[in-house]
Amino acid sequence: MSSTPRKSLTAGDVAERLGAGWSHAAGDAAGPGGTRTGLDAFVAERIAEDERSATTDRERKEAAAKRLIISRHRRPAPGSAWAKAAPDCCEGCRFHGEGAGERPVTEDIDECPELRAVASVYDGHPAYERRWAQA
Ligand SMILES: [Zn+2]
Repeated sequence: MSSTPRKSLTAGDVAERLGAGWSHAAGDAAGPGGTRTGLDAFVAERIAEDERSATTDRERKEAAAKRLIISRHRRPAPGSAWAKAAPDCCEGCRFHGEGAGERPVTEDIDECPELRAVASVYDGHPAYERRWAQA
């Protein structure tokens, strides 16, 4: 990992960590490596459904707000340093420590509090897993 002390991320930092070719187009929930299953994929699928069925400005804005959240709280981009070191972590929850001791705050994306909050809207869905419920 980088030995640079972490302050706030700049756009350049984010681009470097994400690596080239990463996109968040709707429908890429399976990801190039096929590893995106679980809470993040569940939420992405529900938002895509909401986007398709939205008929009011409020519904479209709500879906856009959720998509913004999941664009930040996601697994590391394929090819990035974190994709190798901690592929299931949430980048949006940030990192702590420095240098070799730097670690994701949320090691398992299924435990991301932001994604769990978004997922709670869909807790009646058959694919919703009870383990995602907020404590
Ligand atoms: Zn997160």
